[in-house]
This record gives sequence, structure tokens and C-alpha cells, in this order.
Amino acid sequence: MLVMKFGGTSVGSAKAISEVAAIVKARLKQKPVVVVSAVSGVTDGLIRLAEEASNGKGADLFSSIHGQHKDILLDLKLSESLCDKEFAELTALVKKTRKKKSKLTQKTLDTFKSFGERLSSLIVAETLKKAGVPAKAFPAWELGMITNDVFGDSDPLPESSALLKKKICALTLVPVITGFLGKTKKGEITTLGRGGSDYTAAIIGAAIKAEAIQIWKEVDGFLTTDPRIVPEAKIVSELAFEEACELAYFGAKVLHPKTILPAMELGVPVQVLNTFKPEGKGTTIVSSFEDRRHKSHSVEAFSRKKGITILHVRSPEFFDGSGLMAKLFKVFERHRTSIDLIATSVVSVSLTIDNEKYLKEIVHDLKNLGDVSVVRGKAIICMVGGSINAAGVAGRIFTTLGKHEIPVEMISQAASGVSMTFVVDECDTERALRILHAEFIEK
Ligand code: ASP
Ligand code: MG
Repeated sequence: MLVMKFGGTSVGSAKAISEVAAIVKARLKQKPVVVVSAVSGVTDGLIRLAEEASNGKGADLFSSIHGQHKDILLDLKLSESLCDKEFAELTALVKKTRKKKSKLTQKTLDTFKSFGERLSSLIVAETLKKAGVPAKAFPAWELGMITNDVFGDSDPLPESSALLKKKICALTLVPVITGFLGKTKKGEITTLGRGGSDYTAAIIGAAIKAEAIQIWKEVDGFLTTDPRIVPEAKIVSELAFEEACELAYFGAKVLHPKTILPAMELGVPVQVLNTFKPEGKGTTIVSSFEDRRHKSHSVEAFSRKKGITILHVRSPEFFDGSGLMAKLFKVFERHRTSIDLIATSVVSVSLTIDNEKYLKEIVHDLKNLGDVSVVRGKAIICMVGGSINAAGVAGRIFTTLGKHEIPVEMISQAASGVSMTFVVDECDTERALRILHAEFIEK
């Protein structure tokens, strides 16, 4: 079986939805299990609707969400009444929320949010049927997506997996399942966190041990670097999960790796594909970097994150004060700020952060440990690939940058050999990416 997840833009218009139907129809032999997001913008609209309703308003917003779906139905030549039941339910929820004077709860908000995927799944299923594909829309909870009651950010309960498997494998038609949604054991609607439809796809793909999970979006996949900076950027055909994590953390906004973890744990590959260029090969994310390392002998991709601040802490006590590191990390823990890179010498430690919210407090506390200096306006460049720790690669990176007089600091190579990360001045970022891309990808 093949899990095919379509994001908000992929179901964002009648034309896109027709495209989706054609893509699914072309893969019927692989037994597709379809997962959909809400029509793009609708989840945000529903959240605003909930807020407005709790302030006694919301009529205009309701009409606009209603109109948006009606227009799609009309353009697809589907019955206008297809979503009547859902809209009647949403109307009742708006009314009830208006009357209630109490504050909007996460639980009520989740029920509001649920309408996005419930509506889009109905429309996609109906479009498939019209194209001659036996299909049916399902709220995920009807197929076994039982979650905990952390409204707004729930996770499936362990028993979900077996339930999903049993129910989905028994189906003889193409299910079009709501992404993002579940229900608690008590039957209350929950959501899996923003962007949670990818997570739904991964949970289902893992449960049914799918041959692959396809995430259909409006981008071609992971690219060798940001094409806005380097127009020559190409699609990366394969990445290991760890590599995708590094790239995403340092700026590549293709997907949130955390959401595909359930698939990676079971070794189910995840493909990122473009709904609007379905013939493309996209990027396949595989779970094992070790396997990939043996196949790939190249540097695959770079990403970058700007707005980096370096903190240097100097103290002779680092020399033998074994507890000092622990104290240092505690400071960041206390002020809920995560460290991206770290470099140590005998008498100093340098760390980078990308969030200055608690900088003043952090510096204050670090001063108890040693001399502190703060350097702003930096950027991190992250490079991944099967040969990133092969002999000579690091030398080539820094010689190339050196030739162009781009100073580099805080070089860090992950012990797993998955990435090479370093800091440059923010103003050198674009130039560094172009130079490295020319050296490693275009050659
Ligand atoms: N519709 C939800 C959101 O916008 C879930 C998703 O699209 O993945 O967050
Ligand atoms: Mg979305």
C-alpha cells in the first residue's frame, strides 16, 4: 500500500484537486491510502473564526470560508450540497461559542479546526469518484486514530497503530482520510499540532507498513540549496533522515522532520513530490544514513540559518573545572534557549543561539562562570552528504572559502559524519552558498 498525502496548496483549488485525482488514479495498482490537509488558508481562517465567535462575531468570516468551499465545489461541478452537513455543524458551533461567555478552550478550538480537513476530504473523495475511482472520505478517528487529550498538540495512543492497520487494510476502496485530526477515547476531537497532516501520513504509513509515504506539495523536494540564492540548485534525489533533519533545522522549509519520525522508525521511506509537476522524481528520505553513506560519495546539499549570535565564555577554570560545563548548560536550560553549535578550547567555550529573548539573563548568569562576550550578525551554514567526512572534503570547503576571503569560525563536524556546520558573517552567507554550490554541486 502507498500512503499519499496532499498538502493545503495541493487541495487549494478546483484545478489542484483535479490534479490530485489524476495522480491518485494513476497509482491505483499500488493501493493508495490518501491523506489530505485542509484547503490552504482554511485552518488559519477557522482559528480566527473561533476567536471572533467567542467575541460574539464571525459572520463575515464564516461566509468567506463557506464561499471558498462552495466555489471549489462549483468549479469541480460537484453537488453544492456535498458539505451541507459539515457547514450546519459549524454554524451550530459558531452559535454555541457566541453564546458562551467563557474563554475559548483548546478543546473547542480543535473542533473548529477539524472542519478544514473534514471538508477537504469530502471534496477530494467526491472528485475521485467522479473520475471513476471508488473512494470514500473518512475522518481519521473512524479508522482508529485515537489520541491523548493534549488538545492542539496531541499524539496517537499506542493502540492506534493496530486499529488503523485493521480498519484500513479491510477497506476495498480508496480512503480519503483527514490529516491532522483524531479523537480521544472519550470521543472528543483533537488535532496533532500545526502542519500535522504529514504526521498523520507517517503514523498511518507506519501502522500499515506501507511500501512508501508520498508527501505531495507545491515544491519539487529538497534542493541542493535555496534556489532564490542559487538558481542552479537541483533536486536532491535521496537523503537520510538525519540529513533531512539537519537541513530542516538550518533553514530548509520542506517538511518538519519530526512529523515523519514514525515512518523512519519502521524504515518506511518518505518521498517528497510536487503535485504540479507529478512527473518529477522528488526527494526520497530513507531512515538509514549508514546505508546511504556507502552509496553516496558526494556532498548533497547546504542550508543556512541567519540571525545567529555567538557567546564566548572564557575562564581559566575550564582547564580543570569539570563541573563547569554542566553549570554552563544549566544556564541555557534555565532560560529555555537552545544551543545550536558549540566549540571548546582549553580555556574557553563558544556557543551559538538563534533566539535572543533571554540574552540579557543568560549573559548575566554566564558572568558567574567567566568573561563573556557576545557577537551578533552571524550565520550558520550546514552541509550534508554521504562523503561529508571523507578525507579532503573539509579541506576543500575551507580552502574554497578562504580563496574568496570568507572567514569561517566554529567549525563542527557531527560525530555521526552526517553534517559539517560552521559560522560565517551574516553578510557573507549568500556568497558562501554560491561558492560552495559551484565547487561541490556544479562541478
Ligand atoms: N491544516 C493543518 C494546518 O494547517 C494541518 C496541515 O495542513 O498539515 O496546520
Ligand atoms: Mg497546512
